[in-house]
Amino acid sequence: MHDVLIAGGGPVGLFLAGELALSGCSVMVLERDQEPGSPLTALPLGLRGLTAGSAEAFYRRGLLEAVVRASRADEKQVGADPDAVDAPAPRGVSHFAGMGLDAADIDTSALPFRLPGPAMEGFMTSLDAVSAVLSRWVAGLGVEIVRGAPVTAVTQDEGVVVAAAGGQEYRGRWLVGCDGGRSVVRELAGFDFVGTEPLFTGYVARVSFADPQQLRLGFTLTPNGMYLRTPFDGHVGMMDFDGGAFDRSTPLTREHLQAVLRRISGTDVELTDVHLATSFTDRAMQASTYRNGRVLLAGDAAHIHSPLGGQGLNLGIGDAVNLGWKLAATVHGHAPVGLLDTYTGERHPVGASVLDWSRAQVATMQPGPNAPALQRLIHDLMRTSDGTTHVYRQTSGLFHRYDLGSEHPLVGRTVPDFRFDDGTRLGDLMRQGHGVALDFSTDTALQVTAKGWEGRIRYAGGRVRKDLGFRALLVRPDGVVAWADEDAPDRDAFAQAVTRWFGHPESASA
Ligand SMILES: Cc1cc2nc3c(=O)[nH]c(=O)nc-3n(C[C@H](O)[C@H](O)[C@H](O)COP(=O)(O)OP(=O)(O)OC[C@H]3O[C@@H](n4cnc5c(N)ncnc54)[C@H](O)[C@@H]3O)c2cc1C
Repeated sequence: MHDVLIAGGGPVGLFLAGELALSGCSVMVLERDQEPGSPLTALPLGLRGLTAGSAEAFYRRGLLEAVVRASRADEKQVGADPDAVDAPAPRGVSHFAGMGLDAADIDTSALPFRLPGPAMEGFMTSLDAVSAVLSRWVAGLGVEIVRGAPVTAVTQDEGVVVAAAGGQEYRGRWLVGCDGGRSVVRELAGFDFVGTEPLFTGYVARVSFADPQQLRLGFTLTPNGMYLRTPFDGHVGMMDFDGGAFDRSTPLTREHLQAVLRRISGTDVELTDVHLATSFTDRAMQASTYRNGRVLLAGDAAHIHSPLGGQGLNLGIGDAVNLGWKLAATVHGHAPVGLLDTYTGERHPVGASVLDWSRAQVATMQPGPNAPALQRLIHDLMRTSDGTTHVYRQTSGLFHRYDLGSEHPLVGRTVPDFRFDDGTRLGDLMRQGHGVALDFSTDTALQVTAKGWEGRIRYAGGRVRKDLGFRALLVRPDGVVAWADEDAPDRDAFAQAVTRWFGHPESASA
């Protein structure tokens, strides 16, 4: 029996598998598809924007460089339109309803507690690049991946979950459904999935054009919806406000795609061929809880929404890093009471706010007599420094603050990448998935106290180049600040904070 079974070896399932294995859990991934990757996950259709928040998650596990390298290698292979190479790549992470942000307008003084580090910005990648790096990582950590194993039945009792997949039965102490937007685990385990129905059908395709210059590069909002043309050869997207009426089980023909693109773009653009196409909608649904007994959900299995603003994968990576260490502590028997339920408590509101953000964009784009007035208003607001900063705050993945019951503005937020005088960065100290006790004082009190939690937290003391006024901080394995002290560190308060998040020192340990 495995500690944890994961249904779905997409990016979220793989990230979670790595987090759990890093913490000493035995993990098996049951993946429906026989082969990794597909034309839909490769560039250009697999193009995805990662936020700075996700870049931090990769950085803290020592994977950022590899993902960036794999993404650049993919881009080179696919090539770009000769007439488009000088145009800026569309920044999936920096627009609202197709209206771009100007980074120069961000008011950085309104975004305190940031320190320069390797993960300062988001970047464009592909699902294949992300999955390739994560697959190598989890293989090195001993995660077993069973391919050609679609989960078709789930039963659970007090101590065990049994998943049937590919004609076999697999047993685990826990099961996490990371099996995407049409999650079978979500349905079999009886989760509610609630939200709003679609207003549009979206398409992404790789086509050949007779006259591509009729279409502008980047996002173009029109009276009939929105289209996107990227610098990748023949890569287009469009959003057609048909009330979600298009039957997505029917083949996507050249005639249909051309008719939709002509109507939305207001041109007579001619598609000479369609090489690959897929559709999506803006259906926005979320599981009302992310845990039902021994079954949990993460990624698209827990929430779906339109891809506008490129948030789904980022949201899922956030789920994986939030859940991994909590589930591992539960498996090892040292989790404080209620720790696992903070997963829903913390991640559900973040998911709900991303769904709302997506709905607000859809409402802004929805064609109608009042649409231009609303779009002009939002465009004007976004051109103000406050407006740009607000959109950046919402979409960069750096400024969510979990309510951990503290008034301190950094508690509940991602930790700045402190750098010690010897050059060591905090991100380097987090590669093994431990929590970190950061101590910038000259006192030994915290060091002595931290020893009680060896194997769960790592103590790091010394002088840092910029301490931002802090004397000590407790950082969770997901990079979230759990406790912060600006005075001489209070040993009792520190011990209380460590116990709250990492359990009693004498409880079972990995
Ligand atoms: C056009 C488009 C553009 C997007 N752009 C962005 C972007 O720029 N930024 C961003 O953050 N997000 C973006 N997204 C969203 C993003 O792609 C998803 O949120 C992300 O892929 C979700 O990852 P996942 O691992 O949860 O699910 P998936 O990627 O769907 O992976 C699920 C895995 O589970 C497997 N599976 C399915 N059923 C079963 C089963 N029964 N048993 C076992 N395995 C199963 C599947 O084969 C798959 O490998 C975009 C989405 C679309 C459609």
